Amino acid sequence: MVYSQKSNWRLFLFILLFNISAFLIVQLVRFPEVSGARQDEWSYVRGLVESDEMWEQEHGHLPVMRYDAAQLFFAVEQREEEFADYLNILVSQGVFSEEEIWRELLREELYRLMERLEPSNGNSRNESYFLGVADGDFPVDFYARLGIIDVPFDRQYRPDDVVTRQEAVFVAVRAALPALRGNNAPVVVQPKQWYTYETMRADLERLATAYPELLVLHVIGESVEGRAIYAMRLGTGKTEIFLDGSNHASEWLTTPLLMKMMEEYAHHAKYGYSFGGYDVAGLLEEVTFWFIPMVNPDGVTLVLEGPGAVEHGAFVRQVASAHNGSEDFSDWKANIRGVDLNRQFPTGWQGMVNVKRAAAPSHYKGIAPLSEPEALALFEFTLDRRPAMVLSYHQRGEIIFWYYRQDGEQLARDWRIVREMATLTGYSWDFYLTNGGKYRDWVIRELGVPALIMEVGQRIGDLGEWDRIWRQNRYGGLRAAELILEELDKKK
Ligand SMILES: [Zn+2]
Repeated sequence: MVYSQKSNWRLFLFILLFNISAFLIVQLVRFPEVSGARQDEWSYVRGLVESDEMWEQEHGHLPVMRYDAAQLFFAVEQREEEFADYLNILVSQGVFSEEEIWRELLREELYRLMERLEPSNGNSRNESYFLGVADGDFPVDFYARLGIIDVPFDRQYRPDDVVTRQEAVFVAVRAALPALRGNNAPVVVQPKQWYTYETMRADLERLATAYPELLVLHVIGESVEGRAIYAMRLGTGKTEIFLDGSNHASEWLTTPLLMKMMEEYAHHAKYGYSFGGYDVAGLLEEVTFWFIPMVNPDGVTLVLEGPGAVEHGAFVRQVASAHNGSEDFSDWKANIRGVDLNRQFPTGWQGMVNVKRAAAPSHYKGIAPLSEPEALALFEFTLDRRPAMVLSYHQRGEIIFWYYRQDGEQLARDWRIVREMATLTGYSWDFYLTNGGKYRDWVIRELGVPALIMEVGQRIGDLGEWDRIWRQNRYGGLRAAELILEELDKKK
């Protein structure tokens, strides 16, 4: 090698300065949190109600009295008058009677209180979430769709049940504060669980059956152990958008995120409802989403169900022991042969540094690009469809990675999109040049389209973060669709 000492130094200095300034810029323009996103229902209530004992999370399982519920709503509604006058208003409106103020609050009474904050405006169609509820009954569907009330697993509405403090707090706060609204009425997908391959498979089939006019299920390949790699198509537009999850096994929470997204989008499109202000049905005439919710089904099966659930059990035990000194699979990212599927793409693969030399829980790039069937399936499907945009869901850090040597108009376009996605989610973003080998890198180079890695959550595989992750990301696909359509319009 004949590099001069001097130019080496210059290069080093340049890289150093570039990194320092990149770091500073990122710090300076780091996006603020979407308002309320870090708050939870309990802390919001404690900020409003002067009561040390009543509204503590550890007492959430206890029943709530009508009087206390009235105090809760008095605070959440931020009323001007005296509490006694507010109570009289409730009684005169028939929410409950004066003599019964010290009885336990029933669910229908809670919902009447809640309705004061978010009027249903005559929207009383009950047709999709609860079983056995007629039109003209309390509009539970409307409130479920807004994510204010929860739909129980059996989908039964029980207006005469005594409600807990937790339910009262959640309903009150979610009515008052859209940013804290919950799950938007799950019917098929129950995301708050260890979401296995089999659960996903069953849900995909149920969704395809429930929305035959909207959702079409495809298999784009098979894993090493023969599990299907699914892609669900939603929409009829000519602009296609890919959303993939669980490329890294330990980041399996991205699977229920995509499953939930596909259900909500399909549901809202079917009934012609807007979702968070997005005209879903209209967008689906212009775009087609391809959800690939589990790129690495063998790896997810290992992480969630243990080595006994996979054929390569003995092999992965050996690999994990060699790397961790234990048989802990909670941070296993690779496929079942110990190859990191997000180090398998041909762009920059040759020159990658910081990789493992042999099978490992993560960072082993394999003997050649696309040596693994899961990576190859994603590669071929991408070339086949040529999407206009890709969102890859990973964990963690609440940050968007999107940069891989774009320049000129491509850089400017992707940068515009990233800033909007950051505003939507409250995530920060980064533009360090990375190592190569990632799906994202290859999409950016090969197709020239924006490809964003959405790093959701702050901890890996923590279901306690679900509500927060959902709130931040539920409109992600729809917003991405709007943004890419705008960009394509500009080119016309
Ligand atoms: Zn990842």
